[in-house]
Amino acid sequence: MKELVIVSGKGGTGKTTITASLTVLASDPIIADCDVDAPNLHLLLGPDIQFSDEFIESKVAVINPELCNQCGVCESACKFDAISSDFKVDPILCEGCGVCFISCPVNAIEMQERLSGYIYTSKTNYGPMAHALLLPGESNSGKLVTRVRALASKLAEKHERDLILTDGPPGLACAAIATITGASAGLVVTEPTVPAIHDLKRVLELFQHFKIPVMVLINKADLHIRKSKEIADYCQRNDIPIVGQLDYDLKMYEAVVAGRPIVEYAPSIKLSKALKAIWKRVEKQLDAF
Ligand code: SF4
Ligand code: SF4
Repeated sequence: MKELVIVSGKGGTGKTTITASLTVLASDPIIADCDVDAPNLHLLLGPDIQFSDEFIESKVAVINPELCNQCGVCESACKFDAISSDFKVDPILCEGCGVCFISCPVNAIEMQERLSGYIYTSKTNYGPMAHALLLPGESNSGKLVTRVRALASKLAEKHERDLILTDGPPGLACAAIATITGASAGLVVTEPTVPAIHDLKRVLELFQHFKIPVMVLINKADLHIRKSKEIADYCQRNDIPIVGQLDYDLKMYEAVVAGRPIVEYAPSIKLSKALKAIWKRVEKQLDAF
């Protein structure tokens, strides 16, 4: 079983819309959405949720007013200003660090578990899907990504599928590292802009660090031909295969508004044909890696 992770570094390159089309083109994949902070693959794949579970990974301080003698120690100790002058904890500001719990001289503070998000498995028209949602302000996105990937592996075993297509988060932080680690291969969707090229180089270093083979797709390539060439030259110098370039097409946004992958929404346009050719090259590379 192979897992292809699709990442971008910079957000807004079109990674998720392209991933949605790849789920249509791949034969019987398992789909994983690891962009747990802002998942949106479901908007294009219309999953029918079959199972959901709570993700509980953080804590919040709670002061017991019956034990509290209002000494003020916790208010001064809290570096997040989460404790008010009348000794109440603001659960939004509380980071669950536990400093107040340790500092309270009369043990009036309890650290209670807090719901951080949800994890789901769903049916889609393109394959079973593992996905999740991290609640606003919650951390631990890396742990939630690990849970989603584990669930996707279980789905692959259960349904006897050979391929997991994973939509990764933007950026290069904890959630991106949790998505990339242990994958079979990566596909970086980039665009010809200065910040995207900057992030592309960093994300490629990440794949190199984990010794994971990677390929590159240049989206919206015709918007800045010189920068697209700069990306192609960089990849060539570093022996990184480019699986294709896609031109900017407003139809892509029409498909997003319609909530459908572009290869299904407008299968005969140039962009969809190019995506089909790209998927063939991706499959070939996956076999070669
Ligand atoms: S440290 Fe404990 S006793 Fe003092 S104000 Fe805070 S909760 Fe109350
Ligand atoms: S757990 Fe940490 S962040 Fe939360 S109230 Fe206590 S000291 Fe502040």
